[in-house]
Amino acid sequence: MGSILRLEGVRKHYAVGRGTLIALDDVSLAVEDGETVGIVGESGCGKSTLARIACGLEAPTGGSVSLGGVDPNQASASERQRLTRLCQMVFQDPYGSMNPRMKVGKIVGEPLAIHGVGTRAEQKKRVEHLLRQVGLSKDAVGRYPHAFSGGQRQRIAIARALALRPRLLVADEPVSALDVSVQAQVLNLLADLRESLGLTLVVVSHDLSVIRWLAQRVVVMYLGRIVEDGPCEQVLTEPAHPYTRALLDSAPRLPSAADARARDDAPVVLEGEVPSAVDPPSGCHFHPRCALRRSGCELHRPVLQKGALSHRVACHDVHGFDTSMPGDVGDASNPI
Ligand code: ADP
Ligand code: MG
Repeated sequence: MGSILRLEGVRKHYAVGRGTLIALDDVSLAVEDGETVGIVGESGCGKSTLARIACGLEAPTGGSVSLGGVDPNQASASERQRLTRLCQMVFQDPYGSMNPRMKVGKIVGEPLAIHGVGTRAEQKKRVEHLLRQVGLSKDAVGRYPHAFSGGQRQRIAIARALALRPRLLVADEPVSALDVSVQAQVLNLLADLRESLGLTLVVVSHDLSVIRWLAQRVVVMYLGRIVEDGPCEQVLTEPAHPYTRALLDSAPRLPSAADARARDDAPVVLEGEVPSAVDPPSGCHFHPRCALRRSGCELHRPVLQKGALSHRVACHDVHGFDTSMPGDVGDASNPI
């Protein structure tokens, strides 16, 4: 098993009116073949930026990306074509990513036409097969997207994403726009397709219950950084990072409420808003909201590491202070 996706020290800065917004701050992550990785965190923490950079749709400001062993930002035209076939994205709003004046058959078959895969007749058969695979009838080919419900449109978007037989599917909030009952159906579809097609899946969601449903591993982000990364059953029952704990405790509808009760510590209430990524807190980004903060958390950036744990976490309370690490304050090489 190798890493199908590898991000090393990825940064993404956006120039905004008031200065520089740091959407991703030194993100390193490897996704192994066949894994399902969930990426979770509050709105604005950089999940979608991470997803776009992982798929090569956007270039990072710093660091490197390897997709199937190739850096999409250094790739030749033919390598980029290969990467498009390797990795596809599914977005939150399928309607927004579809041409409303195109019939479904054309929408789903378009990647085949663009990449010149098969004859017209073969493409037609493949489209019908794809529609069946996502639970739609082949009659859908002659209809327009507006004739379908939100859940059905997401099925169409998934069929289109599968057209080129990708190995990696990156789904950014794939069910967030859907009714709860339909959410489960689409998540089950993704799980079934993963099994039958041997897909590697990266699922981005602000909703922990979506991650829990689908993923084996969860990556928790806060303000452009990964704060915890480990197996779902471990991270979601015994979270090591105070932010993960707070995120779990603030999701009252989840079965995790029971997990939270099983833990002997009191629930952590997440106070306040996520700070601005233009002017993030120094040291540990989470320190202003952290129940466990102590003197020094505002100075030193915690390293994302395993330490005595079996999974990665970035917290001074877990690892203790590493005073050999440069302080974030006044350190020109580290602009945070
Ligand atoms: P999430 O998906 O977790 O909600 P995003 O990745 O969309 O977060 O955004 C992370 C941060 O980057 C946010 O502060 C957002 O406003 C900012 N951002 C994202 N895309 C752009 C852009 N094209 N230009 C400027 N800022 C952006
Ligand atoms: Mg997003």
